[in-house]
Amino acid sequence: MPKLNENYLNLKESYLFSEIAHRVSEYTKANPDKKVIRLGIGDVTRPLSENVIAALHEGVDAMASSDTFKGYGPEQGYEFLRNAISEYYKKNGVDVEPKAIFISDGAKSDTGNITDIFGNDNVIMIPDPVYPVYVDSNIMCGRNNIVYISATADNNFLPMPDRSVHADLIYICSPNNPTGAIYNHEQLKEWVDYALENEAVILFDSAYEAFISDPSLPRSIYAIEGAKKCAIEFCSLSKTAGFTGTRCGYTVVPTELVFKASNGKEMSLNAMWNRRQSTKFNGTSYIVQNGAAAVFTDEGMAQCQENIKFYQENAKIIASVLDKKGIRYFGGVHSPYIWFECPNGMDSWTFFDYLLNNAQVVGTPGAGFGENGKNFFRLTAFGGRENTIEAMERFDKLF
Ligand code: PLP
Repeated sequence: MPKLNENYLNLKESYLFSEIAHRVSEYTKANPDKKVIRLGIGDVTRPLSENVIAALHEGVDAMASSDTFKGYGPEQGYEFLRNAISEYYKKNGVDVEPKAIFISDGAKSDTGNITDIFGNDNVIMIPDPVYPVYVDSNIMCGRNNIVYISATADNNFLPMPDRSVHADLIYICSPNNPTGAIYNHEQLKEWVDYALENEAVILFDSAYEAFISDPSLPRSIYAIEGAKKCAIEFCSLSKTAGFTGTRCGYTVVPTELVFKASNGKEMSLNAMWNRRQSTKFNGTSYIVQNGAAAVFTDEGMAQCQENIKFYQENAKIIASVLDKKGIRYFGGVHSPYIWFECPNGMDSWTFFDYLLNNAQVVGTPGAGFGENGKNFFRLTAFGGRENTIEAMERFDKLF
């Protein structure tokens, strides 16, 4: 009998979305005439932009002829895409060399796989509430030394470093899923300083950077001085360009990230991630990378921004009803997520049922993201316009 990875026994039941699906399905069975509107799961609804579609077709056509056919590509991603992403960073005032950029099939894989290049004895700092992948990917490899940092309404869901606590790895997501909160330069500088003092590495998830509409807010951790010596950044085209089903993301591992092994030998995280990817990953498909490169052209950026503006308008519609009702909320400006306090002291699952039963609107109970989410609720701006308006009209009439 094989010995199993029994760390899996330590995972908390991941029942959030299955429980939501179960409750919604029970409700629709009992109420077949009622129209249920889903503003829960963080998936996009707008189609890919025209120039991405054209580039995807072009990629498919390249596969049809022996002159242009592509077999295995570089595990790190094609140079044309790494260069395009490097240029994109430059446009946002950040210098990231193509060698530091690794293309993948998305940020979920990379945020989960990054555990491969770190040892087992690290103190891992993770906010609560949080995108669950950070916690579960560490538990799966037996890393239980997790220090949770509290994100609450009192700190605007933006926890700051506590210098009396040491960490080796720090997960930060900004703009945040699920809270929609975003760190400014000064706040991120404090995190970078803390990481440098502790010789720690920040694992910075910027999957929602494209939603930042205020140019004074940092879209990348590398906008902060010193970050290249202490941070890895994960990004994704899922929300930037509607690639949730097409699959493409990228991870930046600066060549400056060099640490001493226990035998005194220097180890480069860039070289280690390169080795990890070359060993376990055979690259993102050429067709998808060709489509992804189109995102980073001026035309592509303009088309993606149209979709993002559409979602931002949805967020405004949601926020205006919460304003009217006097409900305290976070996010919704530089983020597609609106995170609000459940009305009348309800806990998040009670409010979930209340909203489903009385307004036929589905959201996500904050309890699914951590203890600090238990009285909060997440709505997303990724719905269609009519559905968002109708959902919020029903919400408005509730209480
Ligand atoms: N990081 C965060 C914070 C997310 O919310 C998500 C998706 O919801 C991801 C990463 C995953 O992105 P991808 O679709 O690129 O795997």
